[in-house]
Amino acid sequence: MIINPFNKNDIKLIIHSFRYLTFYKLKFVITFICMIIGIVFGLIQPIIWAKLLKSLFSKDFSQIVSLVIYISIIFIVSATTTLVQNYLIAFINNNIIYDIKKDMYASALNLSMKAFDEMNVGDFISRIHNDSATIANVLTNQILTSIVDILKVITIGIALLFISPLLSLVVILCFPISYLIFVHYGESLKEKNSQLVESNDKYFNELHQSLVGIREINSLNVKPKKIRLFSILSEDVRNKTISLGFINTLSQILAQSANVLSQILVTLIGAFMVINSNLSMVYFITFTSYSTQFSSSLLNITKINSNFQQILKSLERVFDLIDNLSYSKQKFGTKHLNNINGTICFKNVYFEYKKNSPILNDVSFNIPVHKVTAIVGTSGAGKSTILSLILKFYSPSKGCIELDDVNINDLDEQTLRSNISIVHQEPYLFNSSIKENLLIANPTATNKEIEDACSKAYIYDFIESLPEKYDTLIGENGVNLSGGQKQRLAIARALLKRSKIILFDEATASLDNQSQEYVNKSIKFISSHCTIVIVAHRLSSLMFADKIIIINKGKVVGQGPHDKLINENITYKNLYNIEAS
Ligand code: ADP
Repeated sequence: MIINPFNKNDIKLIIHSFRYLTFYKLKFVITFICMIIGIVFGLIQPIIWAKLLKSLFSKDFSQIVSLVIYISIIFIVSATTTLVQNYLIAFINNNIIYDIKKDMYASALNLSMKAFDEMNVGDFISRIHNDSATIANVLTNQILTSIVDILKVITIGIALLFISPLLSLVVILCFPISYLIFVHYGESLKEKNSQLVESNDKYFNELHQSLVGIREINSLNVKPKKIRLFSILSEDVRNKTISLGFINTLSQILAQSANVLSQILVTLIGAFMVINSNLSMVYFITFTSYSTQFSSSLLNITKINSNFQQILKSLERVFDLIDNLSYSKQKFGTKHLNNINGTICFKNVYFEYKKNSPILNDVSFNIPVHKVTAIVGTSGAGKSTILSLILKFYSPSKGCIELDDVNINDLDEQTLRSNISIVHQEPYLFNSSIKENLLIANPTATNKEIEDACSKAYIYDFIESLPEKYDTLIGENGVNLSGGQKQRLAIARALLKRSKIILFDEATASLDNQSQEYVNKSIKFISSHCTIVIVAHRLSSLMFADKIIIINKGKVVGQGPHDKLINENITYKNLYNIEAS
């Protein structure tokens, strides 16, 4: 079994990863110096011990005392350098993990929505959690120990040859046995490592989905099934981790056993040479100690390839995300608009999520400023897709969308994101206080501005009635609030952001009549200074809209106010009648 050599791409990836080391050059060099001091003392120690033994035989007590003093000094210096070295390795290692995670997170937030449609979240969590640690470990521990091992093999190799070329030959001849054992297990280790990465992806994905969908799991009564599935996935991770660890240890022990064979031969031949006065006792003791260090360092060098092979998959996964190799990034233009009016215009827009599955076909309409525009149609008609296109989560395949007569493709991220907000049916609220949830939209907002936004969103009285008012904790995803309260809080958040355009995606679909009335009051109130777009399939809640656009199978089949459409538009009439019946 032969370990694959690196191809050009692998080498590029490895070199690419070195950029994370460059921030810690000085610490890396200090760690390296500590390691070199460790090597030097590792080389001196056997000589001192051999001399100590010799002094014992010659009963030279003053020599013994000075050697013990040397041993003590070596111990103190070694302990200090080991402490510094271990601290710095941990420092560099954890900082690299932190740097990689930060870059991955920032890249993920800049990915296009299409990329999120394609990527599974567990895969992402596993990449950020496991792959970053694997890479950091190789970049710090492996690189440093590899350099140290190379230096050790060269220096100790020369010393061995100098002490006894014959014994050196014995050590060299025994080495291929350990090498072959290691190569035999190398491929298997690589394979097991890949399998573990895959199992981790599945495990994290299931964990994430279960926690996010905990309400569905309870209501669908699938808890036992989910627990079984989670057990299977975590057992899989556990078994693969144990198996990987076992093969790793087994290959090391077998390789070490081959070293023992070399030790036995060296001891037998060396002792024979000492007895026949062909080798001094000091050299004999020094050689046996050096040869062990030499063989284990030589073996470590042969592992460098495999260690890097093992991180290649992690490197691919990490840089795939950081450098957006397979996932598309959000693209924005450069044009910045300071004060927008808020008119939106769809001009012959075509769109498809997947090739040859058109969702919108030649859609054209205007959304007037300071008015409420409703987009209605049956489920799956393409209404929410229109909102996603306004937010530029996706881009039309043909045609264009204009904001204040400028193609939104030309606008910069700031213009789009600061001027457009969306309120979903289930607005996402963070597990913190009401105030913190509001301030996310505008961290510098004053208390007066917060209260003003809450009044306009018809949530002010409710907040004031709470014992802790704006400091009330609202629980994971707003579980302590009703659907209507969550929505009004989301409206207040959008107002605090000073968005000129507020989109509502089926926002009132699940509300009771009273909550819906509050939300509608708020919408009407804010439409005097904002452009409002509401997507809904319940027409009764939208009759107050200034303009209604009807979408059917991805096409606009009518637009105008309710009174006009109910008399003139057959699709609208049908939708209305279905709801009334
Ligand atoms: P509506 O809001 O009118 O109910 P949508 O705009 O949500 O409809 O969806 C229109 C069509 O696009 C549906 O057939 C839906 O399955 C499909 N669709 C929506 N989102 C995606 C997506 N992210 N990837 C692929 N298809 C999608």
